[in-house]
Amino acid sequence: MALALHPTIDAFRAACQQARDGGERLGLVPTMGALHEGHLRLIDEAKRHSDRVAVTIFVNPTQFGPHEDLSRYPRQLEQDLQLCEARGAAMVFAPSASEMYPPGEQTRVSVGKLAEPLCGRSRPGHFTGVATVVTKLFAIAGPCVAVFGRKDYQQLKIIERMTRDLCLPVEVVGHPIVRESDGLAMSSRNAYLSSEDRKRALGLARGLSFASMAYQLAGERSAAVLKQHVALSLAQEGAKVDYIELVDAAELTEISERVADEQRAVLATAAYIGDTRLIDNVELGVDPMPIDVSREVRGG
Ligand code: AMP
Repeated sequence: MALALHPTIDAFRAACQQARDGGERLGLVPTMGALHEGHLRLIDEAKRHSDRVAVTIFVNPTQFGPHEDLSRYPRQLEQDLQLCEARGAAMVFAPSASEMYPPGEQTRVSVGKLAEPLCGRSRPGHFTGVATVVTKLFAIAGPCVAVFGRKDYQQLKIIERMTRDLCLPVEVVGHPIVRESDGLAMSSRNAYLSSEDRKRALGLARGLSFASMAYQLAGERSAAVLKQHVALSLAQEGAKVDYIELVDAAELTEISERVADEQRAVLATAAYIGDTRLIDNVELGVDPMPIDVSREVRGG
């Protein structure tokens, strides 16, 4: 079936309602476009949970800070539409900024403690923008299953909590990080990287892999040591660290000393490779090592 493109809220809302009226379960995949295999796997996941998948493509201005990359963020709607159709999405909602934020709009969804650490600390206002646009998308689409990637782990946790707190009629599903064959987490921002920086970008996944190996194979539980593995790899690549944090997987509170028995812990990092800010994370003992570093000698 041909892909339907909806640029307006009214048309997209009506199409979502029509699907439900026909007895179908709706799947929603919110994105900012410049789609890659990571996004497409979210479409696959949404198909497993629903009968008709809608992808939203919107570079949301309210989640970008004044000095961030809003104007240069990659935009490639035609190619995105082809990818969505080939992957079996039924419709795409691609509104303009003024459709989503018409003159006079002034309401924002503010998030609590989950938005304070990690990316929230270095990107003030970012999660207010995310929570606001996702609330709008949920309000427009109506009852559905919405799929988000664990690449943006903090975002996923915030959206899960926000959906519960605001009683939104949406089931939120998380999907594991999709990586390139060498372990780099896929990201639309990888397109910014020069070929030299593309190699250096592996420092994030490598550092997380060494930490993950230490956690799993050597039983390392010290926060300082686990974080040090990431710091070392980033330093080796000359990356500028934004943060390296070990946090509780549910509440995102800092684990400052040791990972307790039975505690689920996420090691997360953000770093600049040149001008490009990349993020990555692993849930220790749960996610596979992003790169198999088990045969490597550290620093070799
Ligand atoms: P974005 O277009 O970057 O806003 O991402 C849209 C959705 O795709 C979010 O739920 C992201 O977490 C998810 N996503 C982006 N990259 C990946 C990836 N490498 N693996 C899994 N999910 C991803």
